[in-house]
Amino acid sequence: MQSSVFHKLLLLLPLAYQHTSNDAETKVTHWNYELHGENWGGTCASGVRQSPLQLAVQKSLIVPLPRIFFGNYDVKLRGPLTLENNGHSAHMDIPATTNGKRPYITGGLLKGRYVADGFHFHWGSPNQRGSEHSINKQRFDVELHIVHRNARYSDVNEAAKHKDGLAVIGVMFKIVKNPNRLFPGLNKVLAELPKIINYKDKSEISGSLSLGQMLGNLNPRDFFTYRGSLTTPECQEAVTWTVFSHILPISYSSVSRFWRLRDSEGHRLINNYRFTQPRNGRPVFYRTGKDLSGAYLGK
Ligand SMILES: [Zn+2]
Repeated sequence: MQSSVFHKLLLLLPLAYQHTSNDAETKVTHWNYELHGENWGGTCASGVRQSPLQLAVQKSLIVPLPRIFFGNYDVKLRGPLTLENNGHSAHMDIPATTNGKRPYITGGLLKGRYVADGFHFHWGSPNQRGSEHSINKQRFDVELHIVHRNARYSDVNEAAKHKDGLAVIGVMFKIVKNPNRLFPGLNKVLAELPKIINYKDKSEISGSLSLGQMLGNLNPRDFFTYRGSLTTPECQEAVTWTVFSHILPISYSSVSRFWRLRDSEGHRLINNYRFTQPRNGRPVFYRTGKDLSGAYLGK
């Protein structure tokens, strides 16, 4: 650790923690991305199966897992759909669909159904990429997280207390000059970013949106999956991660809208990613729909 970083860390500590007598654990009550998680404390510092990770096909167990099944992802969500600046990201709570059901996922390493609860993004800045996971040593410009809770638990907070509580899918976006594919759902969401520049700003997404429209033409057959944690305090080790290896295109102008957001202190909300974490011998599984020649087997 460089000494300048160390001094910065010492200065931040009193601001970052609040200890209360009726709370046995030290809790992070105020946090930011200045050190990308290195001063968050609690489970974030003491955990042994933390996220994000460096993912690589060569360091993964290639196994015949079931593909991810997306339930009600093609059904429009019931409005209002509100994108909010929560000080750490641009976030949307996911409501029920117009048929009164909830979007959910199952398959992969998951046992049972996991109900979609919310999505948010991680991004960089004009000179840094912002994805949390890396794939084959590469990081990407934006990472979308869709957070799901195990249907057996009543809400996300309850689910976060259990090992099998949460399932998050991660989708990577890379800036390309002229994205020849337009993703109308994602574009609708990104169009609201200029209206949520400041902390607690909210904006209603106009028109209709299904969760599947956030994923464009994502190939769901190829993914990494492992057991890890939330990447924000309290970093609970309750997450089964599924990170797709198909990288989606995004335009520079879309990504630059993220860089204009501000946090609760009025600072620029950029580079809101946590550093990658030690694997500690955990298995990472990789599922592919390809055979060894690279041809798709249709699975
Ligand atoms: Zn996230």
